Amino acid sequence: MIDWKKFKRPLRYLDNEWNVIKKKANIRICLCFPDLYEVGMSNLGFRIIYHLFNEIEDVSCERAFMPYPDFLEYLKKNKIKLFSLETKTSLDEFEVLGFNLNYELNFTNFLTMLDLAGIPLFSSQRKRIIVLGGGISNPEPLSEFVDVFFLGEFEEKIFSFVEILKKYKSKEARLKALSEIEGFYVPSFYIQENSSLKKIYPYASYPLKKVYVKDLNSSYYPQKWLVPYASIVHDRAYVEVARGCPNHCFFCQARCFYYPYREKKIEVVLKQVENIYKFSGYESFTFLSLSLSDYSYIEELLDIAETLFKKKKINFSFPSLRIDSIERFYQKLKKIGKISLTLAPEAATERLRKRINKRIDWRKFWETKDILKKLPLTHIKFYFMFGLPEETEEDLVAIPQLVKTISKRLEKRIHVSINAFVPKPFSYFQNKAMEKEEELLKKKRLLLHLFGKNKKIKVSISPIKKSMLEAIISSADRRVSSVVYKAYLLGARFDGYREFFNWKIWEQAFEEEKIDYHQYLEEKKQPFFWSHIIWDGKIQS
Ligand code: SF4
Repeated sequence: MIDWKKFKRPLRYLDNEWNVIKKKANIRICLCFPDLYEVGMSNLGFRIIYHLFNEIEDVSCERAFMPYPDFLEYLKKNKIKLFSLETKTSLDEFEVLGFNLNYELNFTNFLTMLDLAGIPLFSSQRKRIIVLGGGISNPEPLSEFVDVFFLGEFEEKIFSFVEILKKYKSKEARLKALSEIEGFYVPSFYIQENSSLKKIYPYASYPLKKVYVKDLNSSYYPQKWLVPYASIVHDRAYVEVARGCPNHCFFCQARCFYYPYREKKIEVVLKQVENIYKFSGYESFTFLSLSLSDYSYIEELLDIAETLFKKKKINFSFPSLRIDSIERFYQKLKKIGKISLTLAPEAATERLRKRINKRIDWRKFWETKDILKKLPLTHIKFYFMFGLPEETEEDLVAIPQLVKTISKRLEKRIHVSINAFVPKPFSYFQNKAMEKEEELLKKKRLLLHLFGKNKKIKVSISPIKKSMLEAIISSADRRVSSVVYKAYLLGARFDGYREFFNWKIWEQAFEEEKIDYHQYLEEKKQPFFWSHIIWDGKIQS
């Protein structure tokens, strides 16, 4: 019997949330999130797949999350295998473990979870269980550990996946059958030759193609929204109104990852809000889209928000409105209660914004200054980047200047998040070098100095080494599998968390594996290590 009082936030490990699904079925799948419960439960894709698997007859789907270090140590010390939330079944008893691998700095957590469950880490050593990886853009650094990746939006092929599980019983036959279906990538059926991939199983798909949901209106969306008892990062219900983005900012990976741009009809959105409200009781909703201002039915959406706020006191947040669209929506926004506004100009000068293709009309923002002042905003959050290609000192200095001016003129509290630019696969800037560490450190110091101390402005700049690691892993090839493994053995965990991130471990891992990590930070030439994947309708150039 585990004494839960001994652990931080034990509700992370207990089940019985409102709308939890407990089902008996022949095929048992566990969806695993290599981060804490509160982060995983805030991930929309994770929720969609959990509910959708459970909609399928013959399938039961449970969940597992990365345990916090105190509970992790307890499990190890007491030789208890990591178990699922719903039925406390050890992960090694499931047929399939589906991992969300959308964040490179969770890769060592992924290995930790397998190991905690007593499951061999290398795919070649696993006889029965299938480890499926999704949400990843460049899968190569995990090619040794994952049996099959899914490239793109799994909803589209989930039924084919289950059919294969029903039809074939051996792992080998299942993987062979999956590799012939668009979207599935079985890394062991390919070998890396220099920087390209060559298939060794003749029927495996090549090049590999990303799969996407064709029609968002008819695709599955969970309505019996799980309501956690523990607080989570985004403790509200989401209604996705569009997927993809019609803009083309050159640094952006999300645009390519969720390509093409698709919208949900307003009547479908309304129905989903009503149903989620009915089944979950949530009174806080977020309308999700990468760029809400571009949603064709945005006016109608604001009307819905206004009506439901008046009738039922339901709060809505609009996280991705463009700065220059506030004026257009002001009359409606002011009627829907307290809101927070998140704006991402990314660069503070017009010249640099043009260079990165971020289209914002700042004149409009200043024109709306009086309007913004009157809005019932709790705070405004801004996102900026530094270390962007062709950035000058003037661009850098402009960030604190602009934020201070906004804070003064609007008389609002401002949160600013500033991150070093990380060139990501499939983005337009995928071939760019990451700026040298010394330069980035200098720039970070300058930014902090220029911001100074200001009660109304909260600044956060992520550690440079952390961004570097993200850049290295995201554009790495198969050789880096051994580094991820070594870093795991040396104790790397929770690399995405400031308090646990330890660059020395990674440096040692690269050294011991005799791989110079600088090569992944330099400018890249074609073919890239991910060129075998068609992500954006064509092989990226
Ligand atoms: S940064 Fe935002 S607006 Fe620009 S392409 Fe990406 S998702 Fe769209």
